[in-house]
Amino acid sequence: MTELKRNGSSEFYALLDEMGKLHDKKLHDYASNSDPFGNYYFAGKLSKLFDNPDDSGFIGRLGEKLYRLANLENGNKVPANESIYDTETDICVIVTLWIASRRNRRYKDQQNLKIDFAKKQQAEYNQARLGQAEQGISHQPQLYSCESCLTKFTSNGPIFHFIPGYKYLYFCSQSCKDAHLNRIKDK
Ligand SMILES: [Zn+2]
Repeated sequence: MTELKRNGSSEFYALLDEMGKLHDKKLHDYASNSDPFGNYYFAGKLSKLFDNPDDSGFIGRLGEKLYRLANLENGNKVPANESIYDTETDICVIVTLWIASRRNRRYKDQQNLKIDFAKKQQAEYNQARLGQAEQGISHQPQLYSCESCLTKFTSNGPIFHFIPGYKYLYFCSQSCKDAHLNRIKDK
């Protein structure tokens, strides 16, 4: 057979040839000749189960691996690339990553809710102080107790900090606040 004379970079055609070989091996494991795009279609369909793209991404990848496993098992095929065990493990890893992602997202939502709540409290407090100032009610220096080091201190514009999920907590300094946050985080 005479080799086809083609224009341009021979490296380019060599790369295409390599891709063809890899595709041949992968297709054997992932799909069949009668339905060479079946794995992609299946992954796409599965990913549609979820409206949130953060979930559908994981489900799509899971779909590919499930399809691969079924393709190998149903066709009594010996994998050309990764083993059956690798695919089983991939499925477990993807599901575990997915759980971790969902847990992170739930945690972030909860934190945002708490921060919104704290901001609302702060706004209400500021509004109340403003109302009192307009009515000419002056504030006597008030005594506060630092939540962290228990030092008593006074302030006209009270040094208070909100910690999401808690009521007003007073700290004498930022470092006392950080120390307290670290302590409750460890619990
Ligand atoms: Zn303190």
